[in-house]
Amino acid sequence: MTTVVDGRQLATQHRAKVREQVLELDGGPPRLVAVLVGEDPASQIYVRNKQRAAGKAGIDSESIQLPADTDPAELLDRIAALNQDPGTHGILVQLPLPPQIDPGAVAAAVHPDKDVDCLNPANSGLLVRNQARLRPCTPSGCLHILDAHGVEIEGARAVIVGRSEIVGKPLALMLLHRHATVTLCHSRTRDLAGVAREADILVAAVGVPELVQGDWVRPGAAVIDVGMNRLEGGLVGDVAFEPASERAGLITPVPGGVGPLTIAMLIENTLEAFRLQRGANAA
Ligand code: NDP
Repeated sequence: MTTVVDGRQLATQHRAKVREQVLELDGGPPRLVAVLVGEDPASQIYVRNKQRAAGKAGIDSESIQLPADTDPAELLDRIAALNQDPGTHGILVQLPLPPQIDPGAVAAAVHPDKDVDCLNPANSGLLVRNQARLRPCTPSGCLHILDAHGVEIEGARAVIVGRSEIVGKPLALMLLHRHATVTLCHSRTRDLAGVAREADILVAAVGVPELVQGDWVRPGAAVIDVGMNRLEGGLVGDVAFEPASERAGLITPVPGGVGPLTIAMLIENTLEAFRLQRGANAA
């Protein structure tokens, strides 16, 4: 029997746990500020969903909307002001950004203790050392799904397709720290299907609709589909769900799989960021 993960239910449960902790905080609630540059409709939906989830966890949130032609210096000034503001505990700058803005400079500008998306290079470095204080949201969501379903990570062969800074690369590190044997694939990988077939845990984070075919899945494998491809017919993952689910032991659907957990982890990071800034008082 294949387990189809209910990401929405897992996210609701996780948010409830965060809410309990938020309600017990001294000097709370934490506050999350989302900065949105331009009017990309998908980004607006994501930010709205994140704010809604924050509210359900008892976390205050605000979004700052800036025009698409915002000068890079103006954005960096805004971020600097949020870094200084003791009433702001988490800062996220919604991606993608307009072409005149360098996302690397923006990531480096967010104070590491407020970096709830975990994109500041200081936080990436701590992750490499297995000393992370804030963890990247989507990879954390993937691990949460595996743990919630009792998938054994230690000693498992994990194959990740996609080596982005935001998903594939940090997830590879996090699985490695949990003692999986990790293979990180990308557009130049030879015999991708053959490598994928060796996986006990197969993660697709590519952005190519249904790239991972059913016969790429080793029978009984856990298949985590991070992909979110907006096609005319709706949202489609990076895995061909029907054929893959015939072979997988566990599989995440799109939508309703990794996406809700990503947001739940962002909310948890906002709580952790608050604690980092308040020190032991907020424990
Ligand atoms: P990027 O575009 O940053 O990276 C894509 C990666 O896939 C690259 O490493 C690229 O290789 C690799 N790749 C592209 N084509 C192929 C191919 N044909 N074969 C093998 N590898 C390939 O993507 P992201 O990591 O930002 O996002 C990936 C997907 O996940 C997207 O659909 C995105 O929308 C979704 N996503 C979902 C989230 C969620 O919460 N559910 C959160 C974040 C992203 P190379 O490096 O060689 O170019």
